[in-house]
Amino acid sequence: MDTSNSLARSGPLSGYERRVLGALCDTLLPPGGAIPPGAAELEIAGDIEALLRRLRGQPRWLVRAMLLGFDLTALLSRRPSLFHRLDADHRYQWVEASRSSRFRPRREALSGLDVLIQLAYASHPQVASLIGYDGQPLVALGPAGSATGPPPPVDLPVITYPAVRDATIVADVVVVGSGAGGAVAADTLARAGLDVVVLEEGPPIHRSDITGHRPVERLFELYRDGGLTFTLGNPVISLPMGRAVGGTTVVNSGTCFRTPDAILASWAASGIPGVAPEAMAPWFEAVEEMLGVQPVPEDVLGANGETMRRGAEELGLSGGPIRRNIRGCHGHGVCAFGCPVDAKQAMHLSYLPRAVAAGARVYSGTRVRKIRLDAGRAAGVVADVLDPETGRRRGTLEVDARATVLAAGAIFTPALLARQRLARSSRQLGHNLVIHPGAGTTARFDEPLRAWRGTMQSYYVDEKLSDGVLLEATFPPPGLGYSAGSLPGWGRDKSLFALYPHMASCGSIIGDAGVGRVSPLGRNGVAIRYDLTQRDAAKVVEGIAMAAEIFFAAGATEVYPMLPGLDAIHSAAEVRLVREGRWRPSDLHLSAYHPMGSARMGADPSSSVVDPFGRVWDVPDLFVFDASVLPSSCHVNPQMTVMALVARMAARLADSLS
Ligand SMILES: Cc1cc2nc3c(=O)[nH]c(=O)nc-3n(C[C@H](O)[C@H](O)[C@H](O)COP(=O)(O)OP(=O)(O)OC[C@H]3O[C@@H](n4cnc5c(N)ncnc54)[C@H](O)[C@@H]3O)c2cc1C
Ligand code: SF4
Repeated sequence: MDTSNSLARSGPLSGYERRVLGALCDTLLPPGGAIPPGAAELEIAGDIEALLRRLRGQPRWLVRAMLLGFDLTALLSRRPSLFHRLDADHRYQWVEASRSSRFRPRREALSGLDVLIQLAYASHPQVASLIGYDGQPLVALGPAGSATGPPPPVDLPVITYPAVRDATIVADVVVVGSGAGGAVAADTLARAGLDVVVLEEGPPIHRSDITGHRPVERLFELYRDGGLTFTLGNPVISLPMGRAVGGTTVVNSGTCFRTPDAILASWAASGIPGVAPEAMAPWFEAVEEMLGVQPVPEDVLGANGETMRRGAEELGLSGGPIRRNIRGCHGHGVCAFGCPVDAKQAMHLSYLPRAVAAGARVYSGTRVRKIRLDAGRAAGVVADVLDPETGRRRGTLEVDARATVLAAGAIFTPALLARQRLARSSRQLGHNLVIHPGAGTTARFDEPLRAWRGTMQSYYVDEKLSDGVLLEATFPPPGLGYSAGSLPGWGRDKSLFALYPHMASCGSIIGDAGVGRVSPLGRNGVAIRYDLTQRDAAKVVEGIAMAAEIFFAAGATEVYPMLPGLDAIHSAAEVRLVREGRWRPSDLHLSAYHPMGSARMGADPSSSVVDPFGRVWDVPDLFVFDASVLPSSCHVNPQMTVMALVARMAARLADSLS
């Protein structure tokens, strides 16, 4: 019996889409070569479909659109046909030509599907083991309870469906979102004696949700839309975000830079009081002490960090081991998929437990859809209560509060406000979005490095920070790099895959202009528009060139700059091919992790959304305490900036309410 039609009806893909995906998987990953099993033998298309089944809405549509779009592009070939109907040789030629096609939709559809297929293939247990990936920490983990074992798990009390369904509760302050901003706000306000309620859309995270689950599964659990969130524009940029109790800090890399003095000074010069470097120093110190911020210890720096240090020192470039929020790090190198030993001091392990100890109540699976207004003042929120199993709406939770704090992050906070047409008098809401776009650069060495062992993000080079280029040695588990760890395909014989243990990689962070724009889409969605400027594209290219020079200085034999027509370079002399190329924004493979600035703070209500203490200019009793308020790019990973600014703003709010 042919079951394809009934499967098509129940699965996330139709029978036709499944055929296109199967054809692409077979073309990219045929049997034989350096990693013998092919995609068909391992049923990679089925694994992708199983992952897609966990998602709803936009990301599924995106994958389906890419499949349709890529299939149609082959009609433009010299032998017009749908891609999936071509024979194997012509499919291969079409794929290879598509990688450097000048027709953006063709190149970007392939690139998006390529990432998904690479992710599913490389994280298949059989392939991971053939690559040599064992997921073991660099420093052996002792038994629980021993000095070298994991600490006792943290049991954060969180209220979730069905314990909450339809209800109205009263609090002094309601905080929307539990990430870097929301958790610090809740802690500050609760310790000041205020009755605080935190509403978080995502699920609660316990260590047992992380240990025993593969990183790829965690990606689909801990990230919004399984990490398949993108900006629309030129080029399309991957912009993953966390969605969990603890927000994006659960999945971030734990890198902790203070805001550079020059940036703070520029914000102070714009008229914002109390943000000059000396005024902010005590706020940073308090956050750092709370989170155990320290440079990556030598024993968990790992080969990726050591390689970058060797190259940077050889060239005399300024840099060092990254400062991170860790206690008892063993170097599992999976920080962006939840820390399996709770070493990374994410919000669900640090600020939220302290807030709860001071009386705060944390609700998960509660998606705020509306700010309640009473005679023009904010008076709390209305939230959908979600079933954690199905994601379906099961009830309505209303919170009646004296002050309402939005900390849903720089994408969802402006969308929430815009949906109700609030905070729009300056016309800046949702504008000025900065994302720190960056490119990954991977290099091959003769000797095996097994660079996934050790801290995932370990060593920085800030030689050109003042020009807006920061490099960070970053090596994710195989197949899970959006940026760092990416390869220009893997060759028909999968040879680059097999060389994975010989690779090192580095990501870049670009201090970009605030050209992005967030708007609400439908009931809960968002549209993120972002067109990279030519100036910022030049910074990305400079980051790739610097990374290549560092890798060659450290002894690399080949570097993959991921630029069209320039798959690999083989010596430091060839780095000029990167610098001298006339690359356009659309030529770059970018990802970004740091949305900021979409409800910026300022001293002037005509050009900012919130005042210098996060109060929405237009709506009394409404505050924004998250990455949205940054007045511009902070040029470094932003969580410390967010936490320190929020601690300062929340202290002011606590004073005014006490
Ligand atoms: C993979 C990755 C790695 C990163 N690495 C680093 C790093 O190493 N160092 C660093 O400094 N920064 C890093 N960042 C960025 C950093 O984590 C963020 O800048 C920071 O967490 C932003 O804090 P926030 O409070 O604005 O938002 P988030 O921490 O994103 O928190 C927002 C929360 O609000 C919730 N929410 C959204 N809408 C609603 C709603 N309607 N109702 C209820 N809840 C809602 C979300 O689910 C989320 O949990 C990384 C980011 C990513 C994606
Ligand atoms: S912080 Fe990262 S490197 Fe350290 S133990 Fe956790 S996952 Fe491993």
